[in-house]
Amino acid sequence: MSLKAIYEEVAKCNRCGGCQAVCPTYAETRVEWSVARGRIALVRAMIEGRLPVDPETMAPIYECLLCQKCVAACPSGVRTDQIMLAAREELMKTQGKPAVARAVVRVLRNPRPFNTVVTLLGYYAKTLRPVTIVTRLERVAGVVAKANRLVDRTERRSLQSQAPRYLKAVDSPAHKVAYFIGCATNRLNHAPGIATIDVLQRNKVRVEVPEAVCCGLPALAYGDKETAKEMARRNLDRFAGLDVEAVVSDCGSCTSTLAEYAGLLADDPEYRAKARALSMKVRDISKYLVEIGFAKPRGEVKTSVTYHDPCHLCRHLKVTAEPRAVLKSIPGLDFREMKEADACCGAAGSYMLTHVQLSDEILGRKVAHVAETKAEILATGCPACQLNLGYGLKKHGVPAKVVHAVELLAQAYRAEEGAGTGPASGEAEDGRTTGARTTKAPEKREVAGSGR
Ligand code: SF4
Ligand code: SF4
Repeated sequence: MSLKAIYEEVAKCNRCGGCQAVCPTYAETRVEWSVARGRIALVRAMIEGRLPVDPETMAPIYECLLCQKCVAACPSGVRTDQIMLAAREELMKTQGKPAVARAVVRVLRNPRPFNTVVTLLGYYAKTLRPVTIVTRLERVAGVVAKANRLVDRTERRSLQSQAPRYLKAVDSPAHKVAYFIGCATNRLNHAPGIATIDVLQRNKVRVEVPEAVCCGLPALAYGDKETAKEMARRNLDRFAGLDVEAVVSDCGSCTSTLAEYAGLLADDPEYRAKARALSMKVRDISKYLVEIGFAKPRGEVKTSVTYHDPCHLCRHLKVTAEPRAVLKSIPGLDFREMKEADACCGAAGSYMLTHVQLSDEILGRKVAHVAETKAEILATGCPACQLNLGYGLKKHGVPAKVVHAVELLAQAYRAEEGAGTGPASGEAEDGRTTGARTTKAPEKREVAGSGR
């Protein structure tokens, strides 16, 4: 958005205050600059020169989760998320990248620094954390403490490097897809990725796993559009020429960002067409399964489950019915809808580390809603939400286990083979399971979803 376009968008706000009732940050802070209306007023004042574009004025703009709750509720259709992104971009142009943005983008831009950070976190969690003095130090350094609580364990190797172990030859495939591995699945928790590959292959989908880089969302969220474009081009170099009908992701945020490549590179004559083609092909895993009419599992998973809608999946991509259809197709699974299932959990990428206190408060409300359902499992569709929700449940002593929805489907497929909960092709290397009980239920095979 140009400054002129932002101003036009800002001018659409009629100050009705409708956003107050839905904004998660306002629900916790109750201050005007913490809601869409107040944030928009700040941006207007900056554009009109009544306030300086400096880090202090920008703090409320960075405090926005970009969750789009206000956008969905706004009677004037104001795109507050786009205004926030454009304002961040302006600050970056005038003041340079904020230190935290520089650090996050540098770590995610190349696999090597990201891998180093993950390895150090894993080492810290296993060896140093139990030492009392370190625990005391953690209390002082809130960000370090939260990072370590979030990342309870890390994967020794990347899923990218381990993918050949899970890829199988599919005879007479009905479909061909490329699987896009997001950063969290690649190094922090392989389970959603392994389950994604597994359920696709069980549905006669041939899967290939090109080497991806970060989708670029963290850079975009900080207003660093140039870095986001660079990452988009690198991914397009790897995915654009593939003979596949879809690019599938298990991460709502990655899926949403890949879908935005067309807009991001609209002015790039070399990549414009490739970006448009990829954006048309990208699919969230649940949506893709429903589209191809996935096989209804016959194995039972005897447990109760509730579902958290990730912001990018439910509002950016409008994917809400599909993950529920996947869960409700599983025999034995008792689905319990929670209150405010589509409310942000406070993760919002690196927000959970840069705004620890506010993120934790927002998460507390989500955890209370999960606890009310008394469900044994909390399913979701975004590995970053998974990390944050797992941290929140543990912090508040709620015994539910967090999994990706597709992990439960993989478990049901394994159960129909009589594989039970033991390690199988669809599980993580260390045999971690969803923890749910499974039984084989001999029934005639049915097809779920709408079909194409
Ligand atoms: S709901 Fe929309 S128009 Fe109303 S105050 Fe909020 S942003 Fe402005
Ligand atoms: S995007 Fe979310 S956090 Fe930001 S102003 Fe809107 S509702 Fe509030």
